[in-house]
Amino acid sequence: MSFDSLGLSAPLLKAVAEEGYDTPSPIQAQAIPAVLDGRDVMAAAQTGTGKTAGFTLPILQRLSEAQRPNGRPVRALILTPTRELAAQVGESVATYGKHLPLTSAVVFGGVKINPQIAKLKSGVDILVATPGRLLDLHQQKAVSFEALEVLVLDEADRMLDMGFIHDIRRILKVLPAQRQNLLFSATFSQEIRNLAKGIVNDPVEVSV
Ligand code: AMP
Repeated sequence: MSFDSLGLSAPLLKAVAEEGYDTPSPIQAQAIPAVLDGRDVMAAAQTGTGKTAGFTLPILQRLSEAQRPNGRPVRALILTPTRELAAQVGESVATYGKHLPLTSAVVFGGVKINPQIAKLKSGVDILVATPGRLLDLHQQKAVSFEALEVLVLDEADRMLDMGFIHDIRRILKVLPAQRQNLLFSATFSQEIRNLAKGIVNDPVEVSV
C-alpha cells in the first residue's frame, strides 16, 4: 500500500514524501478514501496512529478541488480540546498543505483575540480551534460558517471529559446542516455514541 494508491493529488503526495512517509498508517488507509468520497467518518484512533494526516490530507484535497466561495469564508473547521493539540493540528495542516493555495489558522483561548480576528478577516479556508475561543469569535462576528463544508471533532472523548459538551452543542447550532462530519476519538463510549448520533450521518466506521 502506498500513498499514491489512496487517490491523493500530486501536491499532497509531494508534501507527504517530503515528510519522509512512505506507507500510509492503517487509520490513513481506511479514512483517506472515505473522506475523499465525501462520507462522514467515525474513527477510533489514539494519538500516534497518524490520525491527523488521516483527516487533514483528504480535507486539503477536497477543498483544493472544489470551487472556492467568494470572500474566503471558513470551509473546514477542526475542533480540538486543547491549545497544544490545536497548535499541532495547525502545523500538520500547514505542512501537508504547503504546495496548495489554501490558507489556515489556529485559534485558542488564553491569548489576545485581536490578532485572531485580523487573521480571520484576511481569509481562512481551514480553521483549527478550541471550542470556547471559537464561540467568542463567533459572538464577535469575526467568523461565520455559512460556507462550511467539513467539520472535524478531534479527540472527541477528551472534549467530553473536559466539559465541552455545551460549547460543542452551541457550535453545532450555528453550522450549516449540509456538511461532511468526521469524528475522531480514542474510545467509543456510550456518551460519545450519543454525541455522534446528532453529528454524523451514515458514517464509515474506522478503528485501528
Ligand atoms: P498523529 O497520530 O496524527 O499525532 O501522528 C503521529 C506521528 O506520526 C506524527 O509525528 C506524524 O508526523 C507521524 N506520521 C503520520 N503519518 C505517518 C506515516 N504514514 N508514516 C510515518 N509517519 C507518520
